[in-house]
Amino acid sequence: MKENYFKKYPNKDGFFNEYGGAFIPPNLEDEMKKINDAYFSISKSHKFISELRDIRKYYQGRPTPVYHCHRLSEKYGGQIYLKREDLNHTGAHKLNHCMGEALLAKHLGKKKLIAETGAGQHGVALATAAAYFGLECEIHMGEVDIKKEYPNVLRMKVLGATVIPVVHGLKTLKEAVDSAFEAYLKDPISTIYCIGSVVGPHPFPMIVRDFQRVIGIEARQQFLDMTGELPDSVVACLGGGSNAIGIFSAFLDDDESQLFGIEPAGKSFKTGEHAATMTLGKPGIIHGFKCYTLQDENGEPAPVHSIASGLDYPGVGPEHSMLKDLNKVTYDSITDKECIDAFYELSRLEGIIPALESAHAVAYAIKLAKKYPQKSVLVNLSGRGDKDLDYVVDTFGLPD
Ligand SMILES: *Cc1c(COP(=O)(O)O)cnc(C)c1O
Repeated sequence: MKENYFKKYPNKDGFFNEYGGAFIPPNLEDEMKKINDAYFSISKSHKFISELRDIRKYYQGRPTPVYHCHRLSEKYGGQIYLKREDLNHTGAHKLNHCMGEALLAKHLGKKKLIAETGAGQHGVALATAAAYFGLECEIHMGEVDIKKEYPNVLRMKVLGATVIPVVHGLKTLKEAVDSAFEAYLKDPISTIYCIGSVVGPHPFPMIVRDFQRVIGIEARQQFLDMTGELPDSVVACLGGGSNAIGIFSAFLDDDESQLFGIEPAGKSFKTGEHAATMTLGKPGIIHGFKCYTLQDENGEPAPVHSIASGLDYPGVGPEHSMLKDLNKVTYDSITDKECIDAFYELSRLEGIIPALESAHAVAYAIKLAKKYPQKSVLVNLSGRGDKDLDYVVDTFGLPD
């Protein structure tokens, strides 16, 4: 059934049941079709597959390990394991799809990669991939975010990328998306747009999912080798949903493993104080595709908040939207406060500083462990937390 699942979803128009698709202008439709057709012919070739396999192994340092948290498990009960995507080169899972996207660009004869970035994580991963392949890289970033996330701006520049400040509107992610798309449409022949998660119009949610599946394929086998069983629960944080679909995709057939996607409940469930799209949103269209969204009365994306900037998006991948309706995955949320507590718990009990995004998943795993002390839980630790240290210590201080 598993291979059938990946053939069936998305369908040829990019739909995961009612979600996904491509709600975009006609000139963009042609470009998306070209990327889709090229993806199908190139990504199945032996040359592409073996090149990507070598990159995973010798450049990214894959497979990343699965680790048993002995002190965390002892304190809270349960058996808590981490899939260590924080040990993937550049310190997070995003490089998995950026290397794939850049390899596709190379096979298509493209010269330049274009993308937007919010907090800068996607920009840094893409700039890394561009350097590896000798491609140009242009990252569009709101002026407000440039000031807030300056270390990542420097990283992108050191890696040779051009950072284009976006100065209109609110000068944040939404304007950066528009600006990056405009730049891409000016020259779709020699450039390619590289999205940062399993979102956007078809074929992006499918392409990014396929490149992130490596997480689940590795983790399922590693967990079986270590324990002789499958995990009772698999937990991942959910922004657009790329690290979550990456690990979930290997367990969709396993009835014994329950899957949990964790969104930010932020400060409260008041509008503007959270980004709990699945918990509080409704189906709608955002950025060219249909999914659960947080929107205002006029259908505009609602303001969102999370202490983890990689999670504050008012939409979610179409595949997750479908998996929610099918009850294949349980979507739940974790507050800023619970996230910070888990951030320090994992740091102090295991010597692993998690990204604030990943700390949402860790916090939920701790809750599960307390509730089900006999059961095992596998957490996708999507990234490391070095990027968050200044913010966490300045804002919340150090615990005793
Ligand atoms: C960007 C990011 C996320 C959120 O993105 P998804 O597409 O939902 O995975 C999660 N964790 C880390 C470390 C990130 O950088």
